[in-house]
Amino acid sequence: MRKSLAQYQKERQRLQSEYARSQQGRSLGIYIHIPFCRSKCAYCDFYSLADSEQRMEDYLDALLDHLTETAPRAAGYLVDTVYIGGGTPSIFGPDRIAEILRTVRRHYRLTADCEITMEANPDSVTYRRLKAIRRAGVNRLSLGVQSANDHELKLIGRPHDFRQAVEAVDSARKAGFTNLSLDLIYGIPDQTMESWQQTVEALVGLAPEHLSCYGLQLEEGTPLHERRHELTMADDDTQADMYLWLVRRLKEAGYNQYEISNFSRPGRESRHNLRYWQMKEYIGFGPGAHSDFGDRRYSFVPCLEQYIRGMKDGSPIVDEDWEMTEEERRSEYIMLSLRTVHGFDCGWYSRRYHMDSRPLEELLRRYADRGLMVFADGRWHFTPEGFLISNPLLAELLEAQRPHTVRSLLETGQQLQEKDN
Ligand code: SF4
Repeated sequence: MRKSLAQYQKERQRLQSEYARSQQGRSLGIYIHIPFCRSKCAYCDFYSLADSEQRMEDYLDALLDHLTETAPRAAGYLVDTVYIGGGTPSIFGPDRIAEILRTVRRHYRLTADCEITMEANPDSVTYRRLKAIRRAGVNRLSLGVQSANDHELKLIGRPHDFRQAVEAVDSARKAGFTNLSLDLIYGIPDQTMESWQQTVEALVGLAPEHLSCYGLQLEEGTPLHERRHELTMADDDTQADMYLWLVRRLKEAGYNQYEISNFSRPGRESRHNLRYWQMKEYIGFGPGAHSDFGDRRYSFVPCLEQYIRGMKDGSPIVDEDWEMTEEERRSEYIMLSLRTVHGFDCGWYSRRYHMDSRPLEELLRRYADRGLMVFADGRWHFTPEGFLISNPLLAELLEAQRPHTVRSLLETGQQLQEKDN
């Protein structure tokens, strides 16, 4: 007998609340993508659009619908981090940010101490705007400063100078932000060790609670990549020296390195970003946003118009969607745990994934002999020298593990049996 629409809806609601009950009390992070920027920086390959202010209202409507529609699936969860990233959320305006957060609060269960971060650029914040954003509930601000040198900022196409960054920090403090993160980049064209040190000193002087420091990548398709032959870039050795100097200097200034590129005052780590590295669940909203939720990984199309249309007429907005295999999760645990100083736990790894971890431990010990790794409190983590060359080391660790997966062992056993027969 065919079911009526009402029966289907009832069944759907029953399954949703059953699922929600099974997830009761689990923690969740929410990521909201704001894909608008004043102009495109010369190195940027993130999904964001310049000169699209006229689409902001329609995008807000789409986002609110999406947040509301998804909420029943997250009914059993406790949201302890919300991250509004971009793009440049600060050009979206405080009223729209407040509207988003009202919708999140109305439809999701937030913990009392939920960390709510918003990214901002120095040229699109004023004291009044920041005050309104703080009042809307944002309690952590991440400012894209990138360099204290105006010539370098111009070369990479940033829409602000350093004076604006200093004013933005001052306004943020006056507006009541007590958890402030600053982003900076090393390896910028024309940057020298001396100008890098001046940048770091200037940023330390601003006394943020948190710093994120990334090496510049020349991504294909960006204006900076096209101009790469005309640019004077620091060589690999100088960039390595810049990184190691940074780690030392920040340690002296009281910032702990807790991830390859992230440093904080004690207790001020980014809880939202830690969630990614600790493989905890999160739901993303907006074009290009990714999710790890309910045992699935999925992302939405990196296209503003398709996203807005999809939320209006139900046309598809999912870009990729797959269930992670045990093997993918296991490899991810190796890669992500070793990005942080919390590190890799061999015992947990072999119990959780039924793996023989001895080949890994052998390699980890060899890295430790070379000063690239340390073993503390039952876990392995990279030293700054190790973080610097972590990509090839991680590839080696993954490779060492391959013959010891259950599938490989079964295949080898089968081959031996066939040979015997
Ligand atoms: S502000 Fe950020 S997202 Fe926007 S273009 Fe620059 S780097 Fe990209």
